[in-house]
Amino acid sequence: MLLVCFQLSTITLPAQVNLQEKLPLNPKVKTGQLKNGLKYYILENKMPEKRAELRLVVNAGSINEDEDQLGLAHMAEHMAFNGTKNFRKNEIISFLQDIGVGFGNDLNAYTSFNETVYILPIPLQNKENLEKGMQVLEDWAHQVSYMDEDINDERAIILEESRLGKGADDRLYRQLYPKLFAGSRYAERLPIGKDSIISNFHPDAIRRFYKDWYRPDLMAVIVVGDIDTDEVEAMIKKHFSKIKKAKKPRERAEEKMPPYEASSVLVATDHEAIAYSIGISYPFFPADKSNTLESYRNYLIESLLFRMFNQRLQELVQQENAPFVTGNIGSLDWVRGYKMYMLNASPGTGDVRKALNALAEEMERAIRFGFTGPEFERAKKSLIANYERSYNNRDKTSSAELVDELIGHFLEGEPVPGIEKEFEYVQQLLHGITLDEVNRKMEWFKQNSNRVIYILGPDKAEANLPTEAEVLQSIAAVESRQDIQPYEEKRVSGSLMEELPAGGKVVNKTVNEQYNATEITLSNGVKVTLKPTTFKNDEILMSATRFGGKSLYGEADKYNAEYAVQIVSAMGVGNFSPTDLRKMLAGKNVSVSPSISTLTEGVRGSSVKKDLETMLQLTYLYLTNPRKDTALFNSFINRNKLQYANIGANPQVAFLDTMYAVLYQNHPLAPVAIPKSSNFEKVNLDRALEIYKERFADAAGLHFVFVGSFDEAEIIPLLEQYLGALPTVPGTTHEFADNQVRMVKGKEFLKFHKGKEKQSLILAFYNGQAPYSEEFELNIAALSEILNIRIIEELREKVQGIYGGGTSGALSKYPTGEFNFVLQLPCGPEKVDTLIKASREEFRLMMEKGPDPSYLKKVKEQWKESYRANIQQNNYWLEQITQHIILGKNPDRFVNYEKYVDALTEKDIQEAAKLVFGSNNEFIAVLMPEEDQ
Ligand SMILES: [Zn+2]
Repeated sequence: MLLVCFQLSTITLPAQVNLQEKLPLNPKVKTGQLKNGLKYYILENKMPEKRAELRLVVNAGSINEDEDQLGLAHMAEHMAFNGTKNFRKNEIISFLQDIGVGFGNDLNAYTSFNETVYILPIPLQNKENLEKGMQVLEDWAHQVSYMDEDINDERAIILEESRLGKGADDRLYRQLYPKLFAGSRYAERLPIGKDSIISNFHPDAIRRFYKDWYRPDLMAVIVVGDIDTDEVEAMIKKHFSKIKKAKKPRERAEEKMPPYEASSVLVATDHEAIAYSIGISYPFFPADKSNTLESYRNYLIESLLFRMFNQRLQELVQQENAPFVTGNIGSLDWVRGYKMYMLNASPGTGDVRKALNALAEEMERAIRFGFTGPEFERAKKSLIANYERSYNNRDKTSSAELVDELIGHFLEGEPVPGIEKEFEYVQQLLHGITLDEVNRKMEWFKQNSNRVIYILGPDKAEANLPTEAEVLQSIAAVESRQDIQPYEEKRVSGSLMEELPAGGKVVNKTVNEQYNATEITLSNGVKVTLKPTTFKNDEILMSATRFGGKSLYGEADKYNAEYAVQIVSAMGVGNFSPTDLRKMLAGKNVSVSPSISTLTEGVRGSSVKKDLETMLQLTYLYLTNPRKDTALFNSFINRNKLQYANIGANPQVAFLDTMYAVLYQNHPLAPVAIPKSSNFEKVNLDRALEIYKERFADAAGLHFVFVGSFDEAEIIPLLEQYLGALPTVPGTTHEFADNQVRMVKGKEFLKFHKGKEKQSLILAFYNGQAPYSEEFELNIAALSEILNIRIIEELREKVQGIYGGGTSGALSKYPTGEFNFVLQLPCGPEKVDTLIKASREEFRLMMEKGPDPSYLKKVKEQWKESYRANIQQNNYWLEQITQHIILGKNPDRFVNYEKYVDALTEKDIQEAAKLVFGSNNEFIAVLMPEEDQ
């Protein structure tokens, strides 16, 4: 905290900040406009190295569709992958896979109301890739083929995508949108469009959309990465200058969004909804796009206000008889040119009237009394801490993040001054913002009182939902109440630990040459692996793990063990409740969370350099001093009961619940896949706390790993002080228990009927015993990746039965060597049999012939390319080292990963397929709609 106060008080402020000054575009960005109107933005950035992020941004989306084109902006995006002048059908996907870029459903593009964005991450191991990537972008911009046959084939895939979005939420929100977006076309222009139009439109309608809106004056090319900006500029000019200007361009007007003329209410229910959601939406207003320091200052004021308000809602959620289980205020900005403030809450299946009144009361409290000085100070500290972290990592920001900022800049003129400049502005401006000013901002909510209020959720008679008139009456009643009290600030102790524990000493220190890491043993037996890196300037990650976990507890303790960690997190540590802890930690970038999983227990954490000691103190407290608080425990139990009471109304959830019972043959210790209300009735506070202490009170055998921007000489005294002080019982061993929880064997088939929509889901499981080896683990993973490419080619493109789907495979070492392989295909009920047959055929071919070499090559490239990006990230190192410690893996397979990938052969994949699909253990579960019985 010291550091921030220091900066705030000593910064030399200019005599007067000129609020009319415009925020400049980051001078490192090379920008320009071609004669045809196309804009470009180029930025050199070496995170990650040898990679560039290319984007084609089209300033047009579903809002630009004519009445006969609903859904065609999105479909035009799909057509870009179905053939262009230089890449025949699917060649783009194949080219991307060959250079190591995975293709996933829509992962390489998205369409929204106002824009369509094409995403091309290009590996630069081979320099020619950049030129070819630029050709792809150019083809998308003006040379998509739009053959009749390809258009007709794509209809089914779009309809499958549309099918995925259906269900209770979709039905409820489609009733809300006309009220929320009253007076504009937004409600009638959801990007997914209308099924009837997708099925029947004339191919000319989509060609017309492409011709009307894909034109240079509405486009930008953005390139961020490990590139030479002059070179890229020349390439852009070469490829995009030849695109002709539109002769008679249609006007690209922004859709108007008028403010609400009066308040209105929607109370709507649905048989398949699982919980109530309540919203109070304030009227849309034009967003300030002036890009001046003043507009930026207003944005900071708004951020502070939301931070303080959200803290209060958080505190309410944690009360013993909380009015709702989640609550939030924020701004919605996907309506171009406008903003809207929205207050949301969900009482789960609880009392809707009480929740609505509580929301209205919080708003009224903030309007009448504003926020307090301590709340304001905390909000400022945490806001500036976020900027400070970004600033400290300024030269280590990923290209993907930077490219997103530039997209926002092109489309909506969002300021992109660069983090150096931005941090400077934040410090200057924040200094001058007063609490009074923020509190006055609450006036806006009073003046703009035409609201859309909604209550959406399950149709349960006992819920006693208010009528629309009652909703307005009860809000008015809250607003005229005389007894609303100001927020009361509770004082929180100034330090996490009053007294520091008696630390230990390093007793052994060695170097792990393979990881290039230091391994130390502390006097209490706790081990630590230290891997300092320079991937970020200010990021330290921590993890610790050992065997044990929930496996050590029987049926009677199942839920006590399951929720022990969540319960402690809900009650706090040391003398601090979670609310007090948040106050205490305001302005710090630190988090610590313990975990108890099936076979292991441990702790994870992250911090910036200045908060490293806080992270270690928190770790010490979480392991040695969990806090007991009956009221907070009750709040936790009530919240969860309300949240999950009606979860089975969702057809997919009900299906999964039944499916898991078959999969694990009703084993009493099977993993909790679907949380149920009744689970929480079986939890006993004292026993859960006891289990937590049993797992953590003895730190013997815990192996910590630290990765990131720390200095070994500086961190070791802190590790001695805190980790060296953890109590250990010498001579204890920590093992898991094998409770014989196994997946069902033999052939099984489950058909489950539920749901109004024509939605099905196929899940197929293949499992069996196999001795664990790292080689075989890689073979199974490769088998899964290859099948995923085949599934897209066959089941999506040829059968046209799915939008997305695929397999995943794993080989476990503990509690026993076992493989399991899962196929997942969401689809229409009429396609279920065809898809099961087609998948089995793929599996059979893989067993009999192995994969075509071209597929294995694609998978290898993709893996190596993601490895090259991952290996520059702290997260990845932390994960790998931790895994290697617990599973006793060979570090060379991680450090020299590419060597092992290169060694994979088609034969390896075929052998894996024979084991997986030849095992005779096949469990297929299918969800079918109600009416298909
Ligand atoms: Zn799509």
